[in-house]
Amino acid sequence: KLKMAVAREIVASIRSNPTAAPIQTAFVATENATLGAAFDQALGTDVTVAHGGPLSLTAHSKRYDAIILSNVLDEWNLIERKHHLSDFLRSILVTLPPNGTLAIRENMAQHPVSVISELTKFFDVFIAQESDGKTAITFDFYAMRQVEDSLYGGQNHLDVYWILTRAASVQRYEEALATFRDFLDQTQYTEDNVRSYEWIFGEDFISPGGIDENRRVLSRFGELKPGKTMLDIGVGIGGGARQAAREFGLHVLGVDLSTNMIVHAFERNQRDKDARVRYQIGDAVVYAFEENSFDYVFSRDCVQHIEDQKTLFAKIYKSLKPGGKLLITRYGKGYGTLTPLFLEYVKNRHYFLHNLDELKAFAVDAGFTNVRTENLTPRFKEILEEERDRTIANKEDFIGRFSQSLYDHHIASWGDKLGFIAADNHNWHLIYAEKPL
Ligand code: SAM
Repeated sequence: KLKMAVAREIVASIRSNPTAAPIQTAFVATENATLGAAFDQALGTDVTVAHGGPLSLTAHSKRYDAIILSNVLDEWNLIERKHHLSDFLRSILVTLPPNGTLAIRENMAQHPVSVISELTKFFDVFIAQESDGKTAITFDFYAMRQVEDSLYGGQNHLDVYWILTRAASVQRYEEALATFRDFLDQTQYTEDNVRSYEWIFGEDFISPGGIDENRRVLSRFGELKPGKTMLDIGVGIGGGARQAAREFGLHVLGVDLSTNMIVHAFERNQRDKDARVRYQIGDAVVYAFEENSFDYVFSRDCVQHIEDQKTLFAKIYKSLKPGGKLLITRYGKGYGTLTPLFLEYVKNRHYFLHNLDELKAFAVDAGFTNVRTENLTPRFKEILEEERDRTIANKEDFIGRFSQSLYDHHIASWGDKLGFIAADNHNWHLIYAEKPL
């Protein structure tokens, strides 16, 4: 019975992707026959179930709308041998139509959690050559999620699945670009940066003021009712979601686009076993969250990364239940003349910054009521000063863990941010809003 739940869950997730091609035919490779039959039922279409190594797919030269793999990567010894994994992924890509789905479910509990992030990046930036040798075929990344059946039925937070589709857009092979998610992982949120940011902000957080400030921000919701549901957008290493569960009894889905960030969240929850908290890798603007499903949507200092904030607010509005509440803090811009140094900083970070009036308009245009905004910049200044002073006072410890150059980099960038605040360029904003009943 539990196996049936896994199949239904993965199929529902595949079908939630608005851009995925409809499924008429599917190929399922599973670790056991029962699960194969469960997928067959859950899909209710023409399904080929195979159990015979990576070549079993190539043997069926037919085109499939969806290919589902369940616990076969390890069994077929593909995780360690990336060149074999590459060959296998290519054989999948050529078998799928544009927008066809690949779902890979794999129980990662026996692997170091870093393998999750390694595989995510591998799928995300994977590029194969079409037989013409000129065209690139790639995946579009939709989401990586936890298998709820294993989470609630077995306290296993590391049984996960990835949902990818064959990209519809055609690129020239040699010009194919790495994705934005990869950009985040390679630049601002490299593994070392993540750990050093956490050292500065405080355990479990990558946002100004750490856990105490996050409690203060959460209190702006008013009363948080235990048992209610929250979506945390840009959950980072997961501290905010865990705090909302631990201190307020909420059930939280945390979403983030950066694997280097979120694998810490997965790891800490595998340790703490708090099943009120779930995480998924995905782009908050792309992922189709269930409509009318959350009591609260929360986001700490993520939205500045998002170009299309109009769509984001519309999406948040849809995902909230009637009467649901939204609370966001994010980096924004002030009303001072923007200096070249600030513009350079914004460009390098790929930030999309708006002033407080523009922020309010996003929420009002999306249909929210009781919209309240606040300029938190004076508090931002205090926090930045505290963080900088604490880092200077503990310089030896920081350098021992990381490096002199990372220390110099962070001290300079904290100094820059204080300068941007003084010129009313850099702001820190809060917005609270409600979806009408
Ligand atoms: N909220 C966390 C905290 O308070 O510790 C992390 C904040 S961190 C400054 C911003 C996060 O937003 C990063 O982890 C980044 O990967 C994530 N992010 C950026 N763009 C995103 C998107 N489109 N969808 C989901 N997450 C995104």
